[in-house]
Amino acid sequence: MSRYDSRSADPASYRERRSDSGFVHKGEYDGSRSSSSAKREYEGGALSPPRKLELDGLTPFEKNFYSESPAVASMSESEVEEYRRRREITVEGKNIPNPVKSFSDVNFPEYVMQEIAKAGFTEPTAIQSQGWPMALKGRDLIGIAETGSGKTLAYLLPAIVHVNAQPFLAPGDGPIVLVLAPTRELAVQIQQEAAKFGASSKIKNTCIYGGVPKGPQVRDLQKGVEIVIATPGRLIDMLESHHTNLRRVTYLVLDEADRMLDMGFEPQIRKIVDQIRPDRQTLYWSATWPKDVEQLARRFLFNPYKVVIGSPDLKANHAIYQHVEIMSENQKYNKLVKLLEDIMDGSRILIFMDTKKGCDQITRQLRMDGWPALSIHGDKSQAERDWVLSEFRAGKSPIMTATDVAARGLDVKDVKYVINYDFPGSLEDYVHRIGRTGRAGAKGTAYTFFTAANAKFAKDLIKILKEAGQKLSEALGIVEGVMAEAVLGTKEDCIYCIFEGSFSYREMGYYC
Ligand code: AMP
Repeated sequence: MSRYDSRSADPASYRERRSDSGFVHKGEYDGSRSSSSAKREYEGGALSPPRKLELDGLTPFEKNFYSESPAVASMSESEVEEYRRRREITVEGKNIPNPVKSFSDVNFPEYVMQEIAKAGFTEPTAIQSQGWPMALKGRDLIGIAETGSGKTLAYLLPAIVHVNAQPFLAPGDGPIVLVLAPTRELAVQIQQEAAKFGASSKIKNTCIYGGVPKGPQVRDLQKGVEIVIATPGRLIDMLESHHTNLRRVTYLVLDEADRMLDMGFEPQIRKIVDQIRPDRQTLYWSATWPKDVEQLARRFLFNPYKVVIGSPDLKANHAIYQHVEIMSENQKYNKLVKLLEDIMDGSRILIFMDTKKGCDQITRQLRMDGWPALSIHGDKSQAERDWVLSEFRAGKSPIMTATDVAARGLDVKDVKYVINYDFPGSLEDYVHRIGRTGRAGAKGTAYTFFTAANAKFAKDLIKILKEAGQKLSEALGIVEGVMAEAVLGTKEDCIYCIFEGSFSYREMGYYC
């Protein structure tokens, strides 16, 4: 079945249905739009928040595709509550739809259902179960779920339904769906899911990211693609050189949204979002969601739903065994080698470092010592990064060292161990990094080297370990005690003594 077959035969039916958005459009739906008139329509208007925007003159589009199946509609309030409780789903917002329990409860096109069957999925994951009806209703959405929870399909499958219902692309039109991702690796991975699940439709997609020649990307854009997955920098480049435009975008996704908003991407995001019509549907997805990011995020959203899977507090995947070892900086390499000797059985091991230089140094040393290690970081060319990742994915080089460029969103099957050689710069990154293992129902193990320089993270790290039911090493328990004292302003220096191993807890008599 082509994507066109699944559209309603009568475009007027779109016109008659009103979305939940609350926007009132005065323009007439005519089923087609020229790029130049669209340009006139949107230019100059998108800088203010959506609520205040004058939407007169904007051609309406359809974004509410949800029709509740009888099985879902008949769920009683207590059934819904019980289901959400069991799957750890928390929801916020007005008119929240019931969760769906099976794939057949959602009206996905036949070819999507076939791909789901082919993939061997048995039921929607928690984020899909609540996220699909929300996204299909056309409302803005903040979706928070840990890595490996099926987030990508939670927004991609509704995106396919959304594209199916829009007028065809005309020559010169840009995409209908725009997915922004913070790293090239994540963007490529999203594209692979988009290609797989949209394969038998006529929906075209492309991935726009820096570090590779622009030619092929420009050609894709000029041919016309319904879905663009992009990193912000290269997309802005393409927009400024008029290789594409965002006038047709009506479904906008920010993946790993917290990183997109807090790591210096905000001006770029703003620049991009300002070019998109204000009554678009906007969906934010993330594994972690600091409070200050939420404040920022809400500026780009209108009347959003929020769905959180698991505890709204920062939380690691419980399928990961987390081991934290306290040591001094100069013990690290020997500890690493010892650990590798213990665990190396040909499984994939991902080792995180702080810096590109450190990454190169340790990798060189490991290779000199005979370990099959390759490294990936931002100073490597895209071709090299792709090659390293494919060697790692294929298991040909089972050890990969990386900076945080590989911390988020990467879905490599069967990473058995994650080692934090250097502790990351935030607890959010810690959760993301260790989330590279224990994916899609598998168990995983994370080892973390913790030094005096990381002492400020001890308290929050302990919280994460406790929440995940991990055994705390004695040393961390001590650190926690000392930290408690340090907070009271008594003996901050104790932390350093313990980490350097110069005193035992007992010898110190608690305080130095
Ligand atoms: P993500 O959280 O999007 O990175 O997804 C992690 C993995 O889960 C991917 O390999 C998906 O193909 C897989 N996945 C997505 N949806 C489901 C599902 N309903 N059942 C089982 N696996 C799934």
